[in-house]
Amino acid sequence: MTWSRLLRDPAGFLWAAITTRGVRLTVYLLLVAALFPSTRFILSLALLVTLAVMWLQDYRRTASRKIFYLAAALGLIVLGYWVARINVIDVDRQRLAMSPWGDGIRLVADGTYQGVGEGFRGAIKVEVHVEDHRITAIRTLEYPDLISVKDNLITSFKRELLEKGRLEKPSDPDMFRGAIRTLTGYVNAIEAALTKGIPDYPQYSIFSRGLLDAFLGKAPDRVSLNGLAILFAAFMVFDYALQSMLTPGTGRSINCYNCATCVGVCPVKEAEGVQMPMGLVLLTRLGEYERVTELSKYCVGCGRCAAKCPIGNSGPLVIAAAFQACYEAKKAKTAEEQEVSV
Ligand code: SF4
Ligand code: SF4
Repeated sequence: MTWSRLLRDPAGFLWAAITTRGVRLTVYLLLVAALFPSTRFILSLALLVTLAVMWLQDYRRTASRKIFYLAAALGLIVLGYWVARINVIDVDRQRLAMSPWGDGIRLVADGTYQGVGEGFRGAIKVEVHVEDHRITAIRTLEYPDLISVKDNLITSFKRELLEKGRLEKPSDPDMFRGAIRTLTGYVNAIEAALTKGIPDYPQYSIFSRGLLDAFLGKAPDRVSLNGLAILFAAFMVFDYALQSMLTPGTGRSINCYNCATCVGVCPVKEAEGVQMPMGLVLLTRLGEYERVTELSKYCVGCGRCAAKCPIGNSGPLVIAAAFQACYEAKKAKTAEEQEVSV
């Protein structure tokens, strides 16, 4: 699949993309990364490891240089990380000297500011009003932790802050026992709002922010696990069926329930560690057509599996479908190469 085909034959390009599992997997990855920013770091790592394994094999088989490009990209990412890290450490040090906590409220100009902090169930958003270098009002705009039994504690804490007129730790250190993340999110939101009122408050460089947002988002948490679980489910449940539906002759492989009846009657039983013909059926379900064609030489075509399989599967059936799929892929590739060379 080449990009030039997108201009020459958009419909064909789209179909080739849809029927390529690697492309579909990339789309799922991008969707999950967009919906759950905290998964980006894990997904980036997984993607790098997968590409490294695949391209290392390509290098061994065909001396492909892709692995070197990947190594160069990795080097650039590591370099970028260190540049961003130096900037983050420097800015954090400057921020410490301009913190709005305690007496730091004198640095905050009068006005109304909004800030966001990450609570237990999502982002907590507040609006803080500052007058004569005192916090005079705090309005909670978004508070997903609402159903918490600790809600009344937030109210008491807010009353405390308004009495003091500045941002300080709760007077009772045990006040938020069991609801630390709610408190942290709430406090971070107020702090973020106050920093907006400090003139020349140090900011991370666009590069550092971009890199941190793109790769880290925020630390992996329960949301990351949920995001990865959705990705896994989409891949395992949805994509296996889709793969078989999109490849003519392989639809029945999705119905195989691993009863191994076919293995019992097959005179070959096992070839290169693959149970025959059940393993061929499962490989077909995975879209490993080339591997099926490689293993097809062991099938003697006796047809015993076809007679026994409760869903009408058989070695010869999946082998024929795999050969057809490989043939179609090869034909499309050759046609593309010819079109490009013209
Ligand atoms: S047709 Fe092939 S896969 Fe099926 S039982 Fe005979 S040798 Fe085994
Ligand atoms: S007999 Fe049919 S359903 Fe059972 S493992 Fe073999 S292919 Fe699958």
